[in-house]
This record gives sequence, C-alpha cells and structure tokens, in this order.
Amino acid sequence: MTTATTAVAVAGLRAEIAACTVCAAHLAAGPRPVVRFSATARLVIVGQAPGARVHASGVPWDDASGERLREWTGLDPATFHDAAKVALIPMGFCYPGTGASGDLPPRSECAPLWHDRVLALLPADRLTLLVGGYAQEHYLPATKRMTLTERVRDGRAHGPAFIPLPHPSWRSGGWMKRSPWFETDILPPLRAAVRASLELR
Ligand code: SF4
Repeated sequence: MTTATTAVAVAGLRAEIAACTVCAAHLAAGPRPVVRFSATARLVIVGQAPGARVHASGVPWDDASGERLREWTGLDPATFHDAAKVALIPMGFCYPGTGASGDLPPRSECAPLWHDRVLALLPADRLTLLVGGYAQEHYLPATKRMTLTERVRDGRAHGPAFIPLPHPSWRSGGWMKRSPWFETDILPPLRAAVRASLELR
C-alpha cells in the first residue's frame, strides 16, 4: 500500500469503528469506542476496556491506571497520546458497564471483529504490550493455563514481540508489593524496549 492509500484505509477503519453498534444492546452506557492507532505506531498497548471516566472523556487511559502505566513504561503523556507513535487498542473498545465486583469484562465480540483489521495497517516490526489477562489470553493462547504472575515473570519468553504486564488498576499496588521482582527485573527492560520501539521511527 502507498502512504496515501494506507492513510485512507486508516481513516476508513477509524470511521467504521466509531460507528460500531454490534454489542450496543449489552452496553449500559451505549457504544463509544475509545481506540487510537495510525499506520506508523510501532508501540501497541492492548488493554482491557475503557472505564467510566474514559467513557466520559473519550481519552484512552485518562485515569489513575493510565498514570501508573505511563510510569511503568517511562512514557510521558504527550508521547503516550501520540497516535503516530503509540496505538492504544483495548480488548473491548467500549465501556462495558459495572457489575457486582467492578467493571464488567471487555465485550468478547470486539477484539475478533476489529483487532486483525487494525493490526494489518500497523508496521510489522512493532512491540506489543499485553496489559492484563484478557489481552494475554487472546494473544498468547499457549499460556492460557498460566497465571498472570507467571506470564509477567517470563517477560518476552512467549514471543519477543510481546511483553505481558499486569493491569495497572488500584489492585496492582498490592500485587507489586508481593512481587518486588517486577520493579527490579521487569520494568527496566520494559522501559528500554519501549524506548527502542519509538526510536525506530
Ligand atoms: S465494544 Fe466493540 S464490538 Fe461492541 S459496540 Fe463497541 S466497538 Fe463495537
């Protein structure tokens, strides 16, 4: 594809996603896909699904989880939100609503419907951060029987193009206290890999 053709394809796909109502009947707050990508983004962050705050603002990772993720990755807010550099693609693009124990899981219709089409427009030599169990089970199906802690501890062993991370929600504070190796062994190479993926541009 030429650059112009790719730009048209990206714009067309963004418009298609923005108009998606496939699982509207299951979304208490209604569809509002929150996703960012461009044909030049060599860093991809696959998260879970927008929360209520992100649904309201329309800005991905516009919450405490986003702040923690930026701290983990070493990305400043401007770079993190630069779609030319970083693609932000949750497993479910719309806020799924809240259940008895917090936010509901990402809608299962979403990733099979859109992810391959988005990724087909991105550079092949990209790095993908798999944030949380839903992203890891989708992209690393061979690790389905592993715990999230085991996957994170293994780092890039399951594929050099992927780095599994816990979801940076408030719950990860306790998890980090129980897993001191995360800060000493995982975060420094994570930051180096993130820097390298951006410097390739
Ligand atoms: S969650 Fe995904 S599949 Fe469902 S309406 Fe939103 S964009 Fe469409």
